[in-house]
Amino acid sequence: MKCLKCGRETFESRNAEAIELDNGCLLVIRNIPCYKCTECDDILYTGDVVEQIEQIIAAAKNLTQQLMVVDFTTAA
Ligand SMILES: [Zn+2]
Repeated sequence: MKCLKCGRETFESRNAEAIELDNGCLLVIRNIPCYKCTECDDILYTGDVVEQIEQIIAAAKNLTQQLMVVDFTTAA
């Protein structure tokens, strides 16, 4: 997979994302599998991973906690 920004090679890595939900909750997802650019550090997710992140967000919206931290490898 090539970087969308600069076209350089990417390598497999893990990333954490903090997502603010419409209900005011801050969701932190750790250990998300991603591709990282060797040049500009841009992060790429595959379609599958984006879909799984959306599912985790949808599930998190049903909870009322202000702050939530999940591990991608166990929540997906
Ligand atoms: Zn790049």
